[in-house]
Amino acid sequence: MSLRSKSSHRDTNASLSTLAALCFTTVAPPALLYALAEQIKPIVYNLAEEVLVSEGVDYVHSTQKDYLEDSQPILESDLSLPQRCFSEDFLKDIRVARVDTLPLPDSPYVEVARAVYPEEILQEPAALCIGDMIFIKRSVESPELAAVHELVHTWQIRTLGEENFVRLYLYWGFENGYKDIPLEKMAYRITSYARRALTQQDTLPVEKICEREMQKIMQDQDLVLWPLTEE
Ligand SMILES: [Zn+2]
Repeated sequence: MSLRSKSSHRDTNASLSTLAALCFTTVAPPALLYALAEQIKPIVYNLAEEVLVSEGVDYVHSTQKDYLEDSQPILESDLSLPQRCFSEDFLKDIRVARVDTLPLPDSPYVEVARAVYPEEILQEPAALCIGDMIFIKRSVESPELAAVHELVHTWQIRTLGEENFVRLYLYWGFENGYKDIPLEKMAYRITSYARRALTQQDTLPVEKICEREMQKIMQDQDLVLWPLTEE
């Protein structure tokens, strides 16, 4: 892959912003938006490595720093389900922040994704995972289940590494839409198992389930070829 100058990064961010604005202001039928997405896929793929992945990782680090004081160790929080789903060793470095507004990344990519895939959940997420820090909106109906969902993402990030997680998430998000990102489908499946554990006051070996689920995802060569093997 060739290296690009900083100015081409700026140009691409500008193009993505323009595209996002266009998507929002055009009363376009969904088919047209999908066609538009097809057109800009190559741009996104080419720049994912150099711009979006590093921006994503920067966003993770700066947000963790910003919320250090407004978060607390999850083991000292009032959330009890995570402790029945994850080992103490897994949870010991994780912090949780209860917020009114989620600190979503300020990226034109997010705007484009929202415009192209207007699923409700992407417009108004209830919780957010930033590595070892999770955010849960105060208004969320079940903070216990939201926490388990986000902690599955923490497991994915620790297992894949920050860069690979961001890379795969962006790639699949753009290719399939939010709901069909394999990492999200995995998190939603496990959240549904946790719902049973919540109502029955039961435990759930989520880390073991995550290992099994991740192996299934990685076995599907088609899904990982582009993001993981490109040089
Ligand atoms: Zn999720």
